[in-house]
Amino acid sequence: MLNNNPLLLTSDKENLEAFKKEIEQTLNSICKSLTNNKAYEGLSPEELQKNLKNITLLPNEGLGFEKVLEKVNEIILPNFLKTSSSSYMAHLHSPALIESIAAELILSTFNQSMDSWDQSPIATEVEVEVVNQLCKLFNLGNNSDGIFTSGGSQSNLSGIFLARDIFCQKKLNWDIKIEGLPENYTKFRIYTSEISHFSMEKSAHLLGLGYKAVRKVPIDSTGIMDIDILEEMIESDLSNDCLPFCIVATLGTTDYGSIDNLKKISKLCKKYGIWLHADAAYGSGLIVSSKYKDRLGDISLCDSITVDFHKMFLLPISCGLFLVKDSKTFEPFSFHADYLNREEDEEEGYVNLVGKSLQTTRRFDALKVWMAFQVRGKDGYSNIIDTCVENAQYLYNKLIVDDYFEVAMKPEISSLVFRLNNTDEVNKKVRKQLLHKEGIVIGQTVFNNKTFLKFTLLNPLITHSSLDSIIDVIKNIDK
Ligand SMILES: *Cc1c(COP(=O)(O)O)cnc(C)c1O
Repeated sequence: MLNNNPLLLTSDKENLEAFKKEIEQTLNSICKSLTNNKAYEGLSPEELQKNLKNITLLPNEGLGFEKVLEKVNEIILPNFLKTSSSSYMAHLHSPALIESIAAELILSTFNQSMDSWDQSPIATEVEVEVVNQLCKLFNLGNNSDGIFTSGGSQSNLSGIFLARDIFCQKKLNWDIKIEGLPENYTKFRIYTSEISHFSMEKSAHLLGLGYKAVRKVPIDSTGIMDIDILEEMIESDLSNDCLPFCIVATLGTTDYGSIDNLKKISKLCKKYGIWLHADAAYGSGLIVSSKYKDRLGDISLCDSITVDFHKMFLLPISCGLFLVKDSKTFEPFSFHADYLNREEDEEEGYVNLVGKSLQTTRRFDALKVWMAFQVRGKDGYSNIIDTCVENAQYLYNKLIVDDYFEVAMKPEISSLVFRLNNTDEVNKKVRKQLLHKEGIVIGQTVFNNKTFLKFTLLNPLITHSSLDSIIDVIKNIDK
C-alpha cells in the first residue's frame, strides 16, 4: 500500500503543496545543521557505521518523509564534510555556489535526460548553446564542439578514445569500431607527465591498450613535462616500431597545479602527427581570470580538452565538459538506435546528444553553468579565481621563509604542497589530528619519496588570516 506521502509533483494542488512543504522542511534542516565553521565533526569510521547499522533500509511499511528527514537530521547532516567551510582544503572538491544548488533543484525536479531531444527539448538546446559559447571562451575555433560529462575522468577517456580511433582510421586504415583492436595494439603509445592524473592509466586499460601504453614523462623542477626527454622518448619508441598516437598535456596537475607547455608540446604533436589532448580538469578555471588566464597557454593548439566545472568553477558534482577542435572527430561515439536517435531525426533538426557521449541517460548539468555564469559574470568569476590563486601565493610566501616548513614547488594555480621539517610520521599525524580533533581537513601526498601535506584552495572565502591561524594550529600540534 502507498503511505500518505504524495508520489509525484504534478499540477495537482495537493501535490504542489506537499512538494513545497518537503522542500521547505529540507531547507530548514540544511540551514540548522550549519552551526560552526568546522569542516568535519571528527567521527571515526566505526562511529559512523554504528549509527547506520540499526536502520532497516527497506522497512515493511514506509515511514513517511518527516520521520526519515529526522534521521537525516540526526545521523547524516551533522556528519557531512562541509565543503563550504574555510577549514576544508584537502582536495579538488569544491563548495557549491548558492545559485548552482538552486539549479540542481530545478534539474532534478524536471529530470530531463540528455540522450535524445524528445527527452530534453529545452535542455538539449541549452546544452548545445552553452557548449557553443564555451568553445569560443576556450578559443577552439569555428569547427569545435563538445559535450557535458560526468567529470575529468570521463573527459580524459573520451579524448584518448577519439585519439586512438582516429589514429587507426587515418594512419592504419583500420576501423576499430567494427574490427576491434588491430594486431599491433601493444605498440600504441600515449605520452603524459609522470604526475598526470591516474585516469590516463585507467583509460589506457579500458581502451584495451594497458598501462604499458602510457609513457610517463619526467618533470622538471617546476612540475612540467621535460620536452627534450619527451621527444627522446617518442624517437626511441618510433625506432622500436611503436605507434605514438596521443600526448596528454596537463593544465593544472592535481597536486601541484603545474601547467605543461602547450606551445612546445604542440610542435612535437605536429612534427610526429600526434593528437594533443589537454587535461584542464583543474586549470580550466583560469580561463575566466583576467589576471592569470595566460598561464594556461594557447588552448587553440589542442585537438581536445577536458574541463571540470565541479572544481575551480564551484559547481556541484557532477559537471564536466569535453571539447574537441573539430566536430567531425566525434564520429567514433556515434551509434544509431532505432528507438532513440534515428538518423531521420537529425535531418529534421532534432539534435540527439547521445551521439557524442559515452553515457546514454545523462544529467542536465549544463543548466548549472548557464545559471552560474550569468549570475556571476566575468568579473565575479574572475574575482573568485584570482582570490584562490593569490591565497596560494600568500601561503607560499609565508612558508618559504619559515624554517619550520619545506615547500615542494611554487604554486601555479591554487594548491600548495608542503611539509613540516620533521618525519613522515609526524606529518601524517598532523593531518589525522586536524581531521578528527580540529575540524580542519587538509590533503596529503608524496613528493620526492617523502610525505607532504597539501592545501587545495578552491574556497574564495578563505582569507590570509584564516590561513595564518591554521598554520598556527599545525605548529601547535607538532609541539
Ligand atoms: C580531478 C582531476 C581529474 C579527474 O576528474 P573527475 O572530475 O574527478 O573525474 C582528471 N585530471 C586532473 C588533472 C584532475 O585534477
